[in-house]
Order: sequence, then C-alpha cells, then structure tokens
Amino acid sequence: MRILDIVERAIPVSRYVDPALPSGGLTTSLLAVVTDVMRAGKPVVGYGFASIGRFAQSGLIRERFAPRVLNAAPTALLDDSETNIDPFRAWRVMMTGEKPGGHGERCVAVGTLDMAIWDLAAKIAMQPLHRFLADRLGHQPALPSRVRAYAGGGYYFPRNDIALLSDEIKAFADRGFIDVKIKIGGTTLDQDRRRIDAAATCIAGPAHLAVDAMNSYDHDGAREAARALAPLGLWWFEDICDPLDFETQASVAETYPGSIAAGEALFSSAEAKLLDLYGGLRRAQDILLFDPVHCYGLSGYLRIINDLTSRGWPRRAFWPHGGHLFSLHLVAALGLGGAEINPHAFHPFRGTASGVKVCDGWVAVPDVPGIGFELHDEASQAFQALL
Ligand code: MG
Repeated sequence: MRILDIVERAIPVSRYVDPALPSGGLTTSLLAVVTDVMRAGKPVVGYGFASIGRFAQSGLIRERFAPRVLNAAPTALLDDSETNIDPFRAWRVMMTGEKPGGHGERCVAVGTLDMAIWDLAAKIAMQPLHRFLADRLGHQPALPSRVRAYAGGGYYFPRNDIALLSDEIKAFADRGFIDVKIKIGGTTLDQDRRRIDAAATCIAGPAHLAVDAMNSYDHDGAREAARALAPLGLWWFEDICDPLDFETQASVAETYPGSIAAGEALFSSAEAKLLDLYGGLRRAQDILLFDPVHCYGLSGYLRIINDLTSRGWPRRAFWPHGGHLFSLHLVAALGLGGAEINPHAFHPFRGTASGVKVCDGWVAVPDVPGIGFELHDEASQAFQALL
C-alpha cells in the first residue's frame, strides 16, 4: 500500500452549542491520509484532527511532518507483511531529525497526523481501533465494549451565564451523563461558587462535579481557591496553575483533600516525570489528563503511560483530555480510567457517535474499522468536505 496524499485544512471551532458566541478565534486542523488501498470501490482514508484548545497546526503539518511521510520509502512506513502501514514506524519517520525538548505545538501537529495514521491502519486491518491497538500491544483478548465517560463543558457564557450553564448541565444529565466538568478561575471565587452550586444541583451533587481552572491561578490565587473548594467535596480540581508551576501545585496538594487533575498541557514523558516528581500528586487519588494528541500522538502517550505506571501510577488514574472518539478506543484498549466527552462544544467533533446513548455515564466504543468517525454525522461531513 502507498500513501497518495495528505490533506489538511484549518476550521473554526466553538466552545458553545451556539457557534456565534465568541471562542477567541479557536481553530483546529482536519486531516485526511489518502491511500491506494481500495475497499468497495473507494480508497481507504485515515482521518484525524488536532484535538481542541490548542489551535490548528497547518504550517507544521504541511511544511514538515506530512512531507516526511509522503517522501518516505514505502518500506519505512509498512509493517512486516508490507500490506499495512505501521503507525509506530510512521511515527519514527515523522520525528526524523527532531531534537528532544522544545515541544512548542509541534507535538500537536505530530499527534494530529498520528491519529489519522492509526485510523488508517485499523481500517486496513478491518478492526476497530481499540481491537487493533490491543493486538499490536499484545494486550488481553477481551476488551470492554463500553467505557466510563464524563461530560466536559461549562464554559463561561458572555451573558446570562448561570441560567445557560444550568441548562447545559441539565442537558448533559438528560443525555445520561453522571459526571460533569465545568470551568472556574475566570471570575471571582464567589461567582465561581455560584456556578458550582448551580451545576451541582443539576446532577447528583458536587461529588460528581469536576472543576477546571484552565491553568489560571497564580500561587496565592491557587491556595485561596483550594481553601474555598476544599469543603465542597468536588469530583476533582483540574489545571490549577501554570502547567509547569509544580511548586504551586504541590503546595495545593499538601492541603487540598480532594482529587487534583493535571497533565493536559504537558507534552512529553520527560515533563510527565517532572510532574510526578515535583507536582505533589497522590497516586491513590489524583487524575492524569495527558491528551494523546497533545503528546506527539499514541507513541508519545504510550511512553507516558509506561513511564508513570512503572513509577507506581495505576492505569485508572488516566483520563485522557480531549473529548473525542479516539480517546474512547484508548481507554478501552489500555484499561484507563475513563474519557472526556464534549456533548456541546467543539462541533464537528462534539459528543458521541450519532445515535449512541450514554447510559449512566458509560458510552459504547465505536465498533467499525478505525476510529469510527464515519458513525459521527457531523465529523463525517467535515471530513468528506475536506476531500
Ligand atoms: Mg483542562
């Protein structure tokens, strides 16, 4: 098989159901890897996107990483049978000449292409990604058909915030979610407390509500927020301070009794090790949010999981950030804690595959070859438009 083309396009994404609400010009990259393998008269195409929250990666993909894959000798990309692409070999081709460190957002560009290559390889193998990945890693024959998931959202609405937040959280609960995450740190603690109370009353209480400060607090702000949140018994307290401000995070972890979640904005196994060494996290209760697309794709994500589990972290601590179908497969194949779903935000990747019901906080993993974007009407339309 040969890769014939790699197509990338940046599209706007919104944090809200209503895309007219401002989202700071947020974009993501859509990506398609087109091959000469034919199925039912059509070429097999792998799809990926640049996760959400870190903007499109058009330049890096077009100028550096896609050309390396397109210009590689076929044998450098293929598995031993030479009938399918080997995503691990393709990853090494992408990273040719790249020096360690200085991740910038090149890690997201590589992660985008990597997602599409895993989708492609699983499609050629005629397996859902979780089955294909588990086989590649020699994992257990029985895989779960569904995984735990929570609903991420709860961004600040520019007007009528509390009422619209309540509507949003009620809609999550109506869709079958038990656990929910909202944003904090963008207003006063008193106002955030009102948002937390409003959201918690729409679900089964604060024990099912996580709050994400989006890395907004400085040292004193983080400690003050932790003192205010501590009595509430929240599900977890996420992204407290600057991702590399381990001193502040460790200081919060010393006294904050609930779970802390971190790692979404760290991009490598070296950074993950620093988080573990200096971030004060507690293996028995805290949550690791590393996003496979932010971490140079699956190769980088697997390295982080292997490193941290060998340092004593349980797999149940990993809840990959991102809110997309890719993560559902990884959670199933790797035995992780659960996945984020964004039911409203980030069209065309929001929610589950079309028509899939969330049942008491569990969601079915797509059971068609690849990631299953073809089962997700909005994502499928976006990828079709790309081609
Ligand atoms: Mg976060």
